[in-house]
Amino acid sequence: MDFRPSEDQELLRRSIREFAETEIRPHVREWDEAQHFPSEVVPALAGLGLLGIQIPEEYGGAGLSAVDYCICIEELARVDPGLALSVAAHNGLCAAHVMMFGTEEQKRTFLVPLARGEKIGAWGLTESTSGSDAAGMRTSAVRAGACWVLNGSKTFTTHGRVGHIMVTMAVTDRAAGAKGISAFIVEHGTPGMTPGKKEDKLGMRASDTSEVLFENCRIPADRLLGEEGQGFVNTMQVLDAGRIGIAALSVGLAQGAYEAALRYAQEREAFGKPISSFQAIQWKLADNATRIEGARLLTYRAAYLKDRGGRTTLESSMAKLYASEIAVKAADDCVQIHGGYGFVKDYPAEKFFRDVKLTTIGEGTSEIQRLVIARHLLQ
Ligand SMILES: Cc1cc2nc3c(=O)[nH]c(=O)nc-3n(C[C@H](O)[C@H](O)[C@H](O)COP(=O)(O)OP(=O)(O)OC[C@H]3O[C@@H](n4cnc5c(N)ncnc54)[C@H](O)[C@@H]3O)c2cc1C
Repeated sequence: MDFRPSEDQELLRRSIREFAETEIRPHVREWDEAQHFPSEVVPALAGLGLLGIQIPEEYGGAGLSAVDYCICIEELARVDPGLALSVAAHNGLCAAHVMMFGTEEQKRTFLVPLARGEKIGAWGLTESTSGSDAAGMRTSAVRAGACWVLNGSKTFTTHGRVGHIMVTMAVTDRAAGAKGISAFIVEHGTPGMTPGKKEDKLGMRASDTSEVLFENCRIPADRLLGEEGQGFVNTMQVLDAGRIGIAALSVGLAQGAYEAALRYAQEREAFGKPISSFQAIQWKLADNATRIEGARLLTYRAAYLKDRGGRTTLESSMAKLYASEIAVKAADDCVQIHGGYGFVKDYPAEKFFRDVKLTTIGEGTSEIQRLVIARHLLQ
């Protein structure tokens, strides 16, 4: 076992950190307040390979490992969790689904522009009446000659409005339950597909989230992604990897909140001393630093196992569950250490506190992660 990052990984972390500090940090508050998806930084993200991190170079990606992917998402989330969520959804859901289950032609047509950052990806599983119970979806796809006809709607779709290529799940055989769900690639602008309501969110506000509506939306038959009836099974495999990304996002967010708290504790004085000299504050800092390291190790372990091939359902869920819950605690303590200044927008604490809640909800709630973990334990 070697827990040390390689020189290349240290260099990768430094370069993404520098990019996040110089190109993202100055705009974080403005994007958050305006709920603005920063399409203006997409070329820079693409230039760094951040829109095709794990996609092989032959498909226009950076060809990096799952551990490298965690480093990238972590460093973005340390500065702006909202942008990190967008990068994670583009890479870990949409592009990953096409990479894992697409035909060679689908990869050439859709994956290459996604990986190069020429197109932004969206991924639609959740519906208004089915989130955790995703197999209960209602959106349908019916075969009509050389086409599939989609009807229904998706809720909480990251990049539902700003995305160009969407992977969406739909029921193709209702009687077959979860085995009657298939995945499809739909290009935005296809007649019958319209973005719906843009969500006005508590946090992660730089990440675009909206409904997507399908009304007699006809797509060519060759847009079926993976085998017919395997869409839900494939989705679970995509989420195994996607959850490692949300774990990394949680670690990065927790790190950002912890660093802000540490800095403030050394600057702020009370009773004639820096508040960092009080044991109550020191223990919060020590506990958070320790929990963050633990979460990082769980996350890198899941990523390392993914890099070696095979399923990581249990490891991904454990990493996502633990990292997201310790991130909530880190953001909470960050506000507490800032006192009243944690409650106002002049400091980053309140934004971390709002952003962090998504990590225990998106890509499977904490309750669903516990359910997945318990299912493995009781097998
Ligand atoms: C900002 C944001 C971005 C998102 N991006 C995407 C995206 O790009 N694509 C996409 O498909 N989805 C996306 N989602 C949706 C997200 O994955 C769902 O919100 C999440 O899976 C929970 O589903 P739900 O909201 O319907 O909650 P519900 O499933 O209705 O859950 C409500 C509560 O009940 C609990 N619960 C449900 N079932 C059980 C059970 N069996 N045992 C114990 N407790 C249970 C849940 O844990 C939760 O606490 C996004 C959501 C947000 C907020």
